[in-house]
Amino acid sequence: MSGTKTNTGETLPVVNPATGELITTVPAASAGDVAAAAERAHRVFESGVWAGRSPRERAAVLLRLADLMERDAELLARLDSEDAGKPITECRTGDVPGAIESIRWFAEAADKVFGRVAPTGHESLGLVSREPVGVAAAILPWNYPLAMAAWKVGPALAAGNSLLLKPAEATPRSTLHLAALATEAGLPDGVLTVLPGLGSVTGAALARDPLVRALSFTGSTATGRRILMDAAETNFKRVSLEMGGKSPQVLMADALAYGDDLIDNMIEAAFLTMGQNCTAGSRVLVHDSIAEEVLHRFTTAAKGLVIGDPADARTQVGPLVSRTAFDRVAAAVDAARSAGAQVHTAGLPHGLPARGAYYPPTVLSRVPEDSDVLTKELFGPVVAVQTFTTEDEAVRMANATEYGLAASVWTRDLDTAVRLARGIEAGVVSVNAYSEGDITTPFGGWKQSGFGGAEKSSDAFEQWTRQKTIWIRTR
Ligand code: NAD
Repeated sequence: MSGTKTNTGETLPVVNPATGELITTVPAASAGDVAAAAERAHRVFESGVWAGRSPRERAAVLLRLADLMERDAELLARLDSEDAGKPITECRTGDVPGAIESIRWFAEAADKVFGRVAPTGHESLGLVSREPVGVAAAILPWNYPLAMAAWKVGPALAAGNSLLLKPAEATPRSTLHLAALATEAGLPDGVLTVLPGLGSVTGAALARDPLVRALSFTGSTATGRRILMDAAETNFKRVSLEMGGKSPQVLMADALAYGDDLIDNMIEAAFLTMGQNCTAGSRVLVHDSIAEEVLHRFTTAAKGLVIGDPADARTQVGPLVSRTAFDRVAAAVDAARSAGAQVHTAGLPHGLPARGAYYPPTVLSRVPEDSDVLTKELFGPVVAVQTFTTEDEAVRMANATEYGLAASVWTRDLDTAVRLARGIEAGVVSVNAYSEGDITTPFGGWKQSGFGGAEKSSDAFEQWTRQKTIWIRTR
C-alpha cells in the first residue's frame, strides 16, 4: 500500500491465473486505513501543496510520470500480464502505451481547459469555472489494471484533486508501481494513495467515506448498484459508473467486402483479453445472406488463435482471470449446448498447466433467445452468432439488452451506417472497425452500462471537477 500503513495486518494473495501459483501477497486496506487515508488526502488537498500549484506545474509532474512509465514499460506490462493472465504482447502494445498516452494527454490538457463568461447584461459579470472536488476516489477492475488506473489518475490529478485509488483484488501490483513512479516524479505525498483490498471492505469504505466527494467506478453492474446505494446512504458523493456490456457486432449483407479486415476486427472484438473486456463484441448479428460464410471464416480464425503461456510473446489467448471465472463461463456454455446451441471450438492445446484457468475461444450458433450467453455479460471468450433479414430487425436485436456500452456496424453503404449508428443505443458505435475511439473521444455507457460522466477526452474532467458560478455585479 502506498502512503499509509494497514491497521490490521491483513493481506491479499496475488495468484498467477496461468499456473494457479501464488506470486506474492500485498497489504489489504481495512476500513480504518481508508478513513485515515481519506483524512490525510483531505489535509493534503487543503494545504494546497498540489491543488494550489499552477496547472502548468502539475502538468510538469505528470509528464515526468509518463516518462517514468515509459522507462518501466516492460515491468508494468509484466505485472499486468502475470496478475491478470493477459498475453504479454497485448500489455506491451495496448495497455501500457495506452496508459502512458492517457497520463501524458491529461497532463498536457491541465492548462488548456478554460472556464466561461456567461452572456449577461452590462451590469454583471458571470464567471463559470471548474474546480477540483477535493478528495476523490477511483475503484478499478482487473481486466485493464494499469490502463483503467491511468484513465482516472490523469484527469483527477491534472485537475488538482487528492486521489484514493483501489485496484481490483487480483491485480494490485501495476497500480502500486504507478504510485511509486508518481512519487519519483515529484508528486507530493498523500496526493495519490493506492489502497489494495477487498471490494466489500476497502471499496465499500471508500463508497461510504464522508470526505470522498467524487467516486469513479469501473466494474460490474452489480457492484455499481451497491456503490450508488452506499453513496446515497452517506454523503451523496458524486458517483460515475462505467460498467458491463453485451455489445453487438452488426454485419450487413455487404460486410464481407471488408474481407480479412472484417474477420480480424471480429476476432479482436470477441477475444481481446480473452473476451474479458467491457466492450467485447460478444454478440455477432449477421445478415442471413452471408451468415454461413461469416460463421465459417470467423470460427476458422478463432480456431487458429495461439493459446498458451501469457508470458510468451506469440500467445494470443491466455487463461481467464481465475478458476471461478472459468467455472462460470463453462457452465453458461454447457447450459446453452444443452438447450440446443451449436458449439464451434478448437479445444485447448496439450501441455497447459493443469491449474491454469484456460478456456478456448468459442463461437456459438443457434442459441435459444433466453440463453445466458445472449443476455448476460459472460466475460469470457464466448461469442454468439445470430442472423437477421432486415435492418430494423438488426437494430431491434442490437438493442435487446439491458446494456448499452458499445457496438460496431459493418457496411459499405453510408446511409445504412448512419441509420444503424443512430438507432443503436450505446455510448460508442464504431463503423467498419472494432474500436472504442482514441484518447480524444469520450467513452461511457448508456442504459445499465453506466452514467455520470465520460472517461477519456476533455469531457473526463467533468467527473473530477465541480462547476462554480461567480456572479459579479458591476457598476
Ligand atoms: P467487480 O465489480 O467485481 O469489481 C470491480 C471493483 O469493485 C474491484 O476493485 C472490487 O474490489 C470492487 N468492489 C467489489 N465490491 C465492492 C463494493 N461492495 N463496494 C465497492 N467496491 C467494490 O468487477 P470486476 O470483475 O473487477 O471487473 C469486471 C467488470 O468490469 C465487468 O462487468 C466489465 O464489463 C466491467 N468493466 C467496465 C469497463 C468500462 O469502462 N465500462 C472497463 C473495464 C471493465
